[in-house]
Amino acid sequence: MTPLGKILAEIIAAEGPMPLDRYMSLCLGHPVHGYYMSRDPFGARGDFITAPEVSQIFGELIGVWCAAAWDAMGKPSQFNLVELGPGRGTLMTDILKAAKVMPGFRDAARVHLVEMSPTLRRLQKEKLGTEVSWHDSIASIPDGPILLVANEFFDAIPIRQFEKREGKWFERCVGAEGLGLMPAALDNAQGAGGDVLEFAPQRLEIVTEIGRRLASHKGAALIIDYGHLQTAPGDTLQAMRAHQYVELTDQPGESDITSHVDFEALGKALVQGGARVHLAITQRAFLLAMGLERRAAILSSKADGKTQEILARAVARLVGEQEMGHLFKVMVGTSPGLATPYPFGTP
Ligand code: SAH
Repeated sequence: MTPLGKILAEIIAAEGPMPLDRYMSLCLGHPVHGYYMSRDPFGARGDFITAPEVSQIFGELIGVWCAAAWDAMGKPSQFNLVELGPGRGTLMTDILKAAKVMPGFRDAARVHLVEMSPTLRRLQKEKLGTEVSWHDSIASIPDGPILLVANEFFDAIPIRQFEKREGKWFERCVGAEGLGLMPAALDNAQGAGGDVLEFAPQRLEIVTEIGRRLASHKGAALIIDYGHLQTAPGDTLQAMRAHQYVELTDQPGESDITSHVDFEALGKALVQGGARVHLAITQRAFLLAMGLERRAAILSSKADGKTQEILARAVARLVGEQEMGHLFKVMVGTSPGLATPYPFGTP
C-alpha cells in the first residue's frame, strides 16, 4: 500500500466512504503524498505530456494572442498576466518570449502564477526568475487589468460523479473495498438508468471568480483543456501513470487523476460571474488560425533533417484530429466591453 493509501484507509475507517472530489483532492494535493506535490510529472520519462512540452510553438502562439489581447485592452501600462497551474513554467516562458513582438508588453506585465505544488514552484522559479509571484488561488491576485491563461488546469480540479440505478441516484465514492455507491439526494436531475453525471463545483467556483474579475477589470481569460463543448452524461474520470491508463484506486498518490472539462458549464459560470463568453473552438482551429503552420515552416527552414522530423511530429500531435487537435478545446471569456478576440467568432 502507498503511504497515501494508508492515510486514505484511516480516513475511510473513521468517517466512511468519501466522495470522489475529496479522494481526488487528496490524491493530487495531499501536502506530503499528493501526486503533484513532490514530483515533476511531465515529459517522456514522466506520466504524461502537455502541449507546451510538445513544442515551443504552442506557447509562442498563445504569447502572440496575449499581445493582441493587451493591445485590444488599450495597452494598460500595468496588468496582471496570470497562469493557473503552470507546470514546468514552459508555457509562460514561451508566452513572454513571443510577446516581445509587442513593444511595451513585457514591461507592463506583472506575472502571477497560481500553483499548489512546492516542487513545481521551484521549477517555475528556475525558468522564470524571481520577478514572478506565486499564489494558492486567484483570490490573492491584486486588482487591475488581467490576462489569464490556463492549460490543462481545470481537468485536475476535482469532480463528483452521480450514477442512476433503478430510478434512483447514487454518488460514486471510495470506500474500504474500493469504488462504491452511496445514496444521493439528486432526484430531480435528468438522466436515464446507468447514466453517470459529473459535477465540478470547485471548477465552477474558480471560473465564476474569473468572470467576476473580468466584469470589474478589463481583460480576457483563455482556457484550454480536453473536454466537450456540450454538457453530456458520461464517466470521464481517468488515472494515468507512465503514459498508461490505470485503475482510479490503484496506488493512490502515484498517478495523475483528471476528467474531461464541460465547457458549456464553464461558459455559464463565466457569464454568471459577469464576463462575456465567445463560442469555444477546437485546439486545431485555434492553433491553425494563429499561424501554427507558418511558424513551423520558419523553424523547419533553419533546422536539420532530424529536427524537421521532430517538428512535423509535434505539429501533428498538437492539431491532428485523432490526437490533441479535436479533443482539446479553447474558450475565451472577456470583459463585457471588449470585442470578440481573434480567432473566436470567425466562421
Ligand atoms: N499547464 C501545465 C501543467 C498542467 S498539469 C502544462 O500545460 O504543462 C496541472 C498543473 O496545475 C500543475 O502545475 C499542478 O500542480 C497544478 N494544480 C493542480 N491542481 C491545482 C490546484 N488546486 N491549485 C493550484 N494548482 C493546481
